[in-house]
Amino acid sequence: MKIICIGRNYVAHAKELGNEVPTEPVVFFKPKTALLLDDKDFYYPDFSKDIHYEGELVYKICNNGKHIKPKFTKDYYKEVSVGIDFTARDIQEQVKAKGLPWERAKAFDHSAVVGKFLPIEEVTNSEGHIEYTLSKNGERVQIGSTQLMMFNIDDIIVQISKIFTLNIGDLIFTGTPAGVGPIAIGDSYSGRLGDQDVLQCSIK
Ligand code: ZN
Repeated sequence: MKIICIGRNYVAHAKELGNEVPTEPVVFFKPKTALLLDDKDFYYPDFSKDIHYEGELVYKICNNGKHIKPKFTKDYYKEVSVGIDFTARDIQEQVKAKGLPWERAKAFDHSAVVGKFLPIEEVTNSEGHIEYTLSKNGERVQIGSTQLMMFNIDDIIVQISKIFTLNIGDLIFTGTPAGVGPIAIGDSYSGRLGDQDVLQCSIK
C-alpha cells in the first residue's frame, strides 16, 4: 500500500504558510513505515525541534485503477477517517529553500497517524459535506470540511490516477485546513468525524 498526501488543499492554510494557492494538487508520498494506527503514542524524534500537527481527512481506496474517469471515482472509496500528517517544519523549511524533496520532513516513521475508518454515508451531513475537527489537549485547534477543499476526493482521484495506479488499501491524506501548530511531549490529540471520535494520539 502507499500513502498519498495532498498539500495546500485549503486556501487559508496555504496562506498561513505563505505558499501560493496551487492550480493542481500538490502531491507527495509517505511510506508504509510512516503509519501509526490504533491510537498508539507518538514518540518525538530527536532529528527535529519543530514537529507540527496537520489534521486531515483520510480516504481509504477500495478498488484498483488507473486513468479513472470522473463518473467512476465514487467506486474507489467507501470509508473515511481523520489522520495527522506530522511534519518536521524546521526540516521542511530547509529543504524547500534548497528546492529539495520533502521526505525528510514528511515521510519519517509514524508521521501518518490514522484513526478508525467509518462509512462515508455515516459521516456525511445533510448538505452532503463531511466535517472533522482536531483537538489538542481537549481544545479544538482545526476544523476541516470537504466543502472548503480546493480539490475534493473525486478531483484528486481523477488527477493522481493519471500518474499513479491506485490500489486497494492505499490511503489519501487530503490536506490540512488552517490552524496547524507545533506539538510538545505530553500533548494529547483527538480527531472527530461528524459527531464521532475516531482518533487519539499522545505525544511521548
Ligand atoms: Zn498535510
